[in-house]
Parts: sequence; structure tokens; C-alpha cells
Amino acid sequence: MNLDDVLAAINASSELSVGELAFLLGLNDPEDQRRLFEKAYEIKKRNVGAVVRLRGLVEFSNICEKNCLYCGIRRDNHGHRRYMLDEEEILEAAEWILEAGYGSMVLQSGERSDETFISLIESLLVKIKDLTSGKLGVTLSLGEQTPETYERWFNAGAHRYLLRIETSNPTLYRRIHPADHDFDRRRHCLDVLRDTGYQVGTGVMIGLPGQTLEDLAADALFFKNQDVDMIGMGPYIPHRDAPLAKETPDFDERGQLGLGLKMIAVVRLVLQDANIAATTALQALDPVGRERGLKAGANVMMPNVTSPKYRDAYQLYENKPNLDENAAACRDRLRESVAAVGETIRFEEWGDSPRFFRRLNSGRKGSTRATRSR
Ligand code: SAH
Ligand code: SF4
Repeated sequence: MNLDDVLAAINASSELSVGELAFLLGLNDPEDQRRLFEKAYEIKKRNVGAVVRLRGLVEFSNICEKNCLYCGIRRDNHGHRRYMLDEEEILEAAEWILEAGYGSMVLQSGERSDETFISLIESLLVKIKDLTSGKLGVTLSLGEQTPETYERWFNAGAHRYLLRIETSNPTLYRRIHPADHDFDRRRHCLDVLRDTGYQVGTGVMIGLPGQTLEDLAADALFFKNQDVDMIGMGPYIPHRDAPLAKETPDFDERGQLGLGLKMIAVVRLVLQDANIAATTALQALDPVGRERGLKAGANVMMPNVTSPKYRDAYQLYENKPNLDENAAACRDRLRESVAAVGETIRFEEWGDSPRFFRRLNSGRKGSTRATRSR
């Protein structure tokens, strides 16, 4: 296999095989990588434009019922205090995001399934919609829930949901989770979310111990088969208090960053009109990692607007950036850093995925709620 042939297949709009995608993910030569990123960027520009969509990320609680073997806030990690923002603090964050013009917010936390939590989110959503006159798009990232809960939150005003499958290889999934975590249940949640009417996002961790390039290539095809609208994925970064860290004593940051960027490019080739996020895990590995992600095909950034007071306690992985910076400083730097790579931020729009609207128009499953977006 050679790069010219694979690029020619892309130009001819042929569907790429697992072998071809894995070949692209394995490109080591800087010039070859440059050609891959250039192609992905061209496809991005054609389908979603050279514009960046923002979502203000509020990590409102690190309390979690689950015990994922890779995660720093897993239930059995007693090394940090547990917190939950109160309603007022979350509403303040929503107002700040609205004023900053980000257009959209993500509420993320550890997983909880008790009724107190479920109804709290429900009433928060109503209040956020009310407070912002419906101008702020709201995405949830609150893990696996019952169909009834997803429905309640949707009816209360959330219209996008992020639930990473983490890996589409069930054997690898079992290796990185305790025995009571179930791949099929997680995958089923993605179907339920779509059927409920959400715009659905998923993703994987890139560069997990034991993960092959073929696994990642299959992940890209999994996203397509699941017909998802958004992708949020990033490099796996070991956390010293999480059991999986033992498997990567010689963690290779540079290699991990490079693989993360190639995966963004490959997913852009496969899901051409999806929203793809350049996540903070990229930035943790390189101060301009997210901007490099934009050049590799991503079109969404999720600046962290969690109060610095709590950020050090929300360490899914180590070296999370911006722990002591306030939100306003983040916003200004963001505008500049995006301009520096020749892109423009679209402020004050929900920035829904074009793929979602194409899905709706083609009569596939999905609600019309998001067509109200701005
Ligand atoms: N509890 C929810 C949302 C918060 S966790 C959920 O699990 O869906 C959000 C994401 O953080 C997870 O999906 C996982 O992909 C990512 N994550 C956790 N630990 C990580 C690590 N060590 N390196 C990189 N990403 C990690
Ligand atoms: Fe909890 Fe999510 Fe971390 Fe798993 S990845 S332990 S569900 S916060």
C-alpha cells in the first residue's frame, strides 16, 4: 500500500477499508503526515468550513459511581476531595458563557443515577434555558442513563449528548473497565440517545495500552455505522492513581499526540460533515495541541470554564491545562490562537453539526428540536 494510492481513493470518494485507515494512522514520515493533514483539512473546509465552534465546558462534579480503570476520578480513587457545584454556580457559568458569546455549553460530570441528581439536572436545564432565553445550546455528558432519564433531560432542554464508546473493540473495552461495566449497554445508550432525538456524539481514547492501529481504524468505521453527529476523542493520558497507568511505565507524549492528530484526520476522512472536537487532552500534551487538531480536521473547541476553585479536583488524567486561569483570559487567548492558524470562531451560534441536519433531511431518526438552533 502507498500513500498516493490511498489519497487517490479518497479523491475518488471510495470508502476506505480498515487496512487503508490503519495505514494512514501508521504514517511516520513527517511529509506523509503533512499530506494526510492537508487532505483532511481540505475535506473539513469543504464540508464544515474554516470556522471553529465553541462549547464552554463546565465540569460541575467529580462524584462518580463508576470505576473505569483509566480515570483519575474513578470511584475508588480517594486521593482528592469530591465536589459538586451548586445550582447558582452552574447558572453563573451559563451566564458567563452566554456573555462571552460561546453560543453553547457542555455540562459534564462523573456518572450518577440517583433521582436527586436526575431531577437536579432536569430543573437546571429548564433554568438555563430560561436564564439565557434559549440562546445557549446545551450538551450533556453525564454517562450511561436509562431511556427515561435521557428523555426527561431532552424534554427539559438538552439537545446534544456526548457518550464516548471509549473503544469499539469489546475485548479491549473489557480490559480497561471493571467486570460490571458493559460494552453492549454503552453502545445501546448511543442508540437510545439518537432515538430520543439528541444529536449524538461519541469518541474513543487514542493510544490505549493494547490498542492497535486496526482498532482505531475500526473505531472510525464504528462512528460511521452508528451514524453519529459529533466526535469528541483525545489521546489517552495515564493518571498515576488509576490502575491502567501501570501498563504504560514509559508513556510517550509525542507519539501519543501524533497519533491523536492522525486519528482526527482519519475520522474527518470518514465522517466528512461531522463536528469533531479538538479536546483538552491534546492541549495537555502540547500547548498548541488543540490548534494543531484544527489543522488536522477538527472544528470544535471546548474551552474549560469550570471555576479554578474546582479544576484541580477534576483530573481525569494528569497535566490538565489551565488549572489556575480564569475564564476571561482563556477566551481572549482562544480568539488569538485560532486566528493564528487562519481560522475564525463563530460566536453566538449553537454550531450544530451539519451531519445532523443531513441525517434529518434524509429521513433518518432524529428530532426537529435542533432546527430551532441559531
Ligand atoms: N462520566 C462521563 C463523563 C465524564 S468522563 C463518562 O464517562 O462518559 C469524560 C471522558 O474522559 C471519558 O469518556 C473518557 O474518554 C475521558 N477520560 C477519562 N480518563 C481519561 C484518561 N486517563 N485519558 C484520557 N481521557 C480520559
Ligand atoms: Fe466516572 Fe466517566 Fe471517569 Fe468512568 S470515565 S470513572 S464514568 S468520570
